[in-house]
Amino acid sequence: MVTSQDCIDKYGEPNVQMEYKHMQVWDIPAAINRQLPDTPDRVYCNKDMVNPLLCALQNVVQRDLQDEIKTWDGLFNIRKKRGLRSWSLHSWGIAVDINAAWNGLGREPQMSKELVACFTDAGFDWGGTWRRKDGMHFQLATI
Ligand SMILES: [Zn+2]
Repeated sequence: MVTSQDCIDKYGEPNVQMEYKHMQVWDIPAAINRQLPDTPDRVYCNKDMVNPLLCALQNVVQRDLQDEIKTWDGLFNIRKKRGLRSWSLHSWGIAVDINAAWNGLGREPQMSKELVACFTDAGFDWGGTWRRKDGMHFQLATI
């Protein structure tokens, strides 16, 4: 699993001095996005995130699971992991949260295995399998 130290080594410390060369504004292709009403038109994300995220969203559409993405709850956000000292992988724009209201930290995830597979097949790890379950959370499995 990708750790915050892996991200520091590759992208740098997430702070105000961080260079953002690894980040980009990405317009989600309209053909995909128009079928996903709850996703934003554009996201600010890591360049390494674009292809896996595109693949995951294509999987959602191709597998006819559009209705299962109920809320888009954020991608890039410089912050510590909740209750911990290490940086969240959201700090480097390589993690995304969806359906947060039904998949709170430490709760039993309410997400279908089919929806989870859209992301894990595209190269994401899912927080719903962790000891401290984080069912809303998907992060790149490799960087
Ligand atoms: Zn998250």
